[in-house]
Amino acid sequence: DPVRFGPAGLVVAVDGPGGSGKSTVSREIARQLGLRYLDTGAMYRAVTQVALERRIDIEDPAAVAEISERTVLTVGTDPDAPTIAADGVNVEEQIRTRAVTNAVSAVAAVPAVRERLVAQQREIIAESLAAGGIVVEGRDIGSVVAPDAPVKVFLTASTEVRALRRSRQLGEKGVDDVARTLAELGRRDALDSSRTVDPLSVPEGAIVLDSSALSVTEVVEEVMRRSEHLLAATS
Ligand code: C5P
Repeated sequence: DPVRFGPAGLVVAVDGPGGSGKSTVSREIARQLGLRYLDTGAMYRAVTQVALERRIDIEDPAAVAEISERTVLTVGTDPDAPTIAADGVNVEEQIRTRAVTNAVSAVAAVPAVRERLVAQQREIIAESLAAGGIVVEGRDIGSVVAPDAPVKVFLTASTEVRALRRSRQLGEKGVDDVARTLAELGRRDALDSSRTVDPLSVPEGAIVLDSSALSVTEVVEEVMRRSEHLLAATS
């Protein structure tokens, strides 16, 4: 039988490395299907931002775990205006800085941090179901956070294309900037893929798409086409 999610709500899991186009694609799918949207990377970034602000040693797992336990994250799931606050303070801008980007993998590798954030992510997903469901993006959504998600997507792109996209997002122009972003991305990929707890991996049953030569519209169309039989199960 096809997976049914009508009254129970739909969960779409989108995983992939940085710069693969996950955020743009996830938000567009959420808009088209009328679902909520959760950026789990923003949650790891928010904990990292708080740790850096408090001058915690990012390489000290116990100290990082403590920060994570004490910080209350508030996450808004409107795909048109997602929000994130740490202890009531909006951190949307701070979490996109290079300092946070380069420290986040160490924070995300701490098991206690993952345990806490995954629990909160599951709560947000459960709450969204009554409203139709949610598109969740991250590194471990289809494998750990929501392994029962009827639709799973794994988005990739060549390292060069991902670095160019990141560089553009950061407003960089020079060849040196792109080279630096490329090196940092490679380092983050390696850390995210090799950590012991819930490393980035292709979940079973995922639609795997390389977005290097595809536009956002093309990626979204391809996801919709390949999950049509699942989406048709909605009532
Ligand atoms: O997707 P984004 O680049 O914002 O993610 C930032 C970092 O958060 C990743 O490099 C990874 O270390 C961590 N992350 C994670 N699990 C997720 C989402 C993000 O470990 N589900």
